[in-house]
Amino acid sequence: MKQLKQAALNILAHKSRLIGKIESGNQGPTLVFSGGIHGNEPSGVIALVNVLNTLQKQNIPLKGNLLAIIGNVQALHAGMRYITQDLNRLWTPDHIYKLHNGGFDTNEITPEVEEMIAIDNKLIKFVKGKPAEHRYFIDLHTTSSFSAPFAAIDKMHQSIAFARLLPIPFIVNLDDYLKGTLLHYLDHINFGAMVFEAGQHDDPNSVRIHEALIWMVLVTSGALAQHNVPNYEGKLTLLSGLHPNYNDAYQIIHREPANQPGFKMLPGFVNFQPIKKGQPLATTQSKQILSPYNGFMFMPLYQNQGQDGFFIIEKLKTPGF
Ligand SMILES: [Zn+2]
Repeated sequence: MKQLKQAALNILAHKSRLIGKIESGNQGPTLVFSGGIHGNEPSGVIALVNVLNTLQKQNIPLKGNLLAIIGNVQALHAGMRYITQDLNRLWTPDHIYKLHNGGFDTNEITPEVEEMIAIDNKLIKFVKGKPAEHRYFIDLHTTSSFSAPFAAIDKMHQSIAFARLLPIPFIVNLDDYLKGTLLHYLDHINFGAMVFEAGQHDDPNSVRIHEALIWMVLVTSGALAQHNVPNYEGKLTLLSGLHPNYNDAYQIIHREPANQPGFKMLPGFVNFQPIKKGQPLATTQSKQILSPYNGFMFMPLYQNQGQDGFFIIEKLKTPGF
């Protein structure tokens, strides 16, 4: 963690939100990447710096437009998940309305509301005059416990079609369960949106996985030709080799709340682990919680904070997904 944090602090020396911007002047997608929406997740920021450096040093031509930004500048600088509020829970309909219409009252301005306003300003300025089609936003995250990489996307047709082309499993309805995530805002401003979780916060591998995903997105979106990616095959293998069903779409079919007296996960569950109906998954003061379905474990709670005990997901079979 110390190493990654130091690398992020070096990037932040100038406290700028902007990591990089490319406006090629050629027709192509409009891509925005963000890292560090959670300040204790420097991996995405480092990966974006590395990829942009490679593009520049090797003079790799890009089509379309690219913006790479830091999400929560103040929290990243402090090495904390957030200063006063989780920036990835603030994008509620009320706040989005205030961003674009009403404005915030002075007493509503917290460090994270400041971040939100700054992100919105940057994005609105960036997309001005650019085509409304082929807009994708990729939000880079890491997790507190071990996990195979995965993505969560909104249900817009273009997001699903796009996620299908990447060698990673994805969840289509996580934003129905988490209120106020950036995805809600991105739907509002007409971006296909994807949250990508690379692995653990303090694992240097998370940076490599984030980098591989960024390169894949550049190719899949048509911003970059495959032959321009240094070691494309290696990056593809890195992503697809990390998950046995790497290209599957999933949806949440059950949420178990954590706010039950004495709630505790049974040890050892990991994301995408197959589970059987009737299998014990957690305990409370008064009972054992058995799985109501056959499916797969998702986001089991092994830390103290959090409102979600665990989710159960199933593979989507519907054609078109
Ligand atoms: Zn995060």
